[in-house]
Amino acid sequence: MPIRWGKGHQQMSQSGGPLDQGRRTRVFFAPGRINLIGEHTDYTGGLVMPAAIDAGTTATVSAREDASLAFASRDYPGEIVFRGDVLASGRIEIIRRSDDGWGQYVLGVLTAWVEALSAMGRKIPELSGLSINIESTLPQGAGLSSSASLTVLIAYLLDALGRTELPRSALVRIAKMAENDHVGVASGIMDPFAIAFGREGHAIFLHTDTLDHTYVPLAFHPYELIVIDSGKRRTLVDSAYNTRFGEAERAWREIRRIRPELPYLGALTPQGWSTIRPMIKDPVLVRRVDHLVGENERVREARRALEKGDLPKFASLLTASHRSLRDLYEVTGPELDALVDTALSFPGVLGARMMGAGFGGVTLNVVEPSKRDAFVAFVCERYTRLTGLLPRFYRFQIADGVREIRLPGTPAR
Ligand code: ADP
Ligand code: MG
Repeated sequence: MPIRWGKGHQQMSQSGGPLDQGRRTRVFFAPGRINLIGEHTDYTGGLVMPAAIDAGTTATVSAREDASLAFASRDYPGEIVFRGDVLASGRIEIIRRSDDGWGQYVLGVLTAWVEALSAMGRKIPELSGLSINIESTLPQGAGLSSSASLTVLIAYLLDALGRTELPRSALVRIAKMAENDHVGVASGIMDPFAIAFGREGHAIFLHTDTLDHTYVPLAFHPYELIVIDSGKRRTLVDSAYNTRFGEAERAWREIRRIRPELPYLGALTPQGWSTIRPMIKDPVLVRRVDHLVGENERVREARRALEKGDLPKFASLLTASHRSLRDLYEVTGPELDALVDTALSFPGVLGARMMGAGFGGVTLNVVEPSKRDAFVAFVCERYTRLTGLLPRFYRFQIADGVREIRLPGTPAR
């Protein structure tokens, strides 16, 4: 069986030259992200530990003759074209649209950006005569956050092209709003935050309510992280994700009645939860909160383990996170469980877990590099036999957040 290394770990090649028909071409890049630990906690104000990666989404901006602001993607059909000349008056007018739905992310960001500037009493710049071509090296819908990579990328490039100089935290909120309000996914702040604030060689220990964060140096030697795409695409995932979001909200309403001084669900400590737990009647909500409280503790422990260089401890927390997502939060599914169990049965794997929303997508594995080839062969054979699916393997570098890529010969701005 062929071993299928995904292309995402390779650096993106830059398309276009420094000049385009006598005018400047600008290239922007937003990474995808992995999340080491802290799953499904970010919409409850809990803790997470993501990191930006070297695969992501690139936008090449070039001049066009008419006054429009046109977005196209190499990865998806169609385009979405706005009137650029009326933008300054706060109007968002679509001239034509033939995308299959991905344009909703673009429309969402543009709308949220205009609204944010208006709310701040800021002037909205005119952005006309621009073609924006998007392409991605991320597997889509796999849990590496291609959607937030796209939304942060667009927020960042609108800000750069319009010289509006919003802080990164404002771009993060714009990106989140686009996905929440225009695409209809109740996604949390973690993905856009990690994509905007990523730092090479570091994970971000992030408090998702206050956005307080610290950078944790990542040194996996003598192990490495391997991401495996299960090949199972998330069908109905967004509705399942929104269901979990609703359950967390329901749990929060009940808990707040008992502990009105608690500011948000993610602030619930294990001790606090142990006193409230017997009063919550719905066993589903109890399981969900058991996961959330335990997961926040694991994020804290994982940070300590990384700071001490205790990789076996760190990896065991990943495995514990998976078990909790499987048994308590119930977002894994047979494919992800098979992939994690297969990986863990291989000697040389310290820990493994599903990553992202769940039900499909990718897993994160801490593996001994000297056993990498044997590991890949082992997982391919076993996992395919169990599920009929072909896994795909990635080794990502931990990279910086969203940025403009300087083309050779262009002056620094
Ligand atoms: P994930 O964020 O886990 O990759 P999502 O389902 O949240 O999965 O987001 C995937 C969607 O994001 C795609 O269906 C598409 O609409 C949009 N998207 C992501 N990357 C691109 C791209 N390069 N071009 C156009 N749309 C994209
Ligand atoms: Mg997404």
